[in-house]
Amino acid sequence: MILLENLSKSYGGRPALKGISAQIEQGEFVFLTGPSGAGKSTLLRLLYRAELPDEGRVVVGGTEVATLRRSEIPLFRRRLGIVFQDFKLLRRRTVAENVTFVLALLNVPERDQRRRAYQVLRQMGLQHRLGAFPEELSGGEQQRVAIARALVLQPEVMLADEPTGNLDPERSHELMELFKTINYQGTTVVFGTHDRSLIEAHPARTLALERGRLARDGWGAAT
Ligand code: ADP
Repeated sequence: MILLENLSKSYGGRPALKGISAQIEQGEFVFLTGPSGAGKSTLLRLLYRAELPDEGRVVVGGTEVATLRRSEIPLFRRRLGIVFQDFKLLRRRTVAENVTFVLALLNVPERDQRRRAYQVLRQMGLQHRLGAFPEELSGGEQQRVAIARALVLQPEVMLADEPTGNLDPERSHELMELFKTINYQGTTVVFGTHDRSLIEAHPARTLALERGRLARDGWGAAT
């Protein structure tokens, strides 16, 4: 599903990623970990084509990411569900509208928009908050709206960049359970986090970055 081949990326001559190679199969759950500044966000940005590598190849779902034309990028991104630390919700739109919005962009009929939004919001346990605005929700609820928004397009891959970064430990573990459920249902998940306790509690394949290098590709948190 994801192939990384000898990826390198520098910013202003300072390497952020150096010679990263890895392969992630369809249906896998993979943590991407490492201390702050290790290159996690950079690697995720290369996966959703927010950046191009200086060297190496990125292939996602059979698409050679570097060869995408600018006009092809939106269509490519629709195949991915992307979740960030800061939720990135539309503040002036309700919970339901934050999810139907992406469907409206794709000209999905209105009745189907509402049905599909309700379905994913119910899966996230938010069926009672459809009319609320983001600022009326807790951080954990806001992140679940962001996940619902990502899920509504039935992505092949979910990419998450520190999705628990603004949540307390209990909410973080609840969020992990949601991502695990999404993964059980067949979606490949790449979950970027520096939170070791999360990996200890939910062991999975872990790619660990250290100063831009892939320091480890193994199971669970290193001992
Ligand atoms: P992480 O997500 O693991 O905290 P990042 O991928 O954000 O790490 O950063 C890796 C390195 O690249 C850091 O040294 C960071 O300062 C640098 N970096 C990331 N993005 C940029 C950018 N847009 N411009 C300049 N330097 C950047």
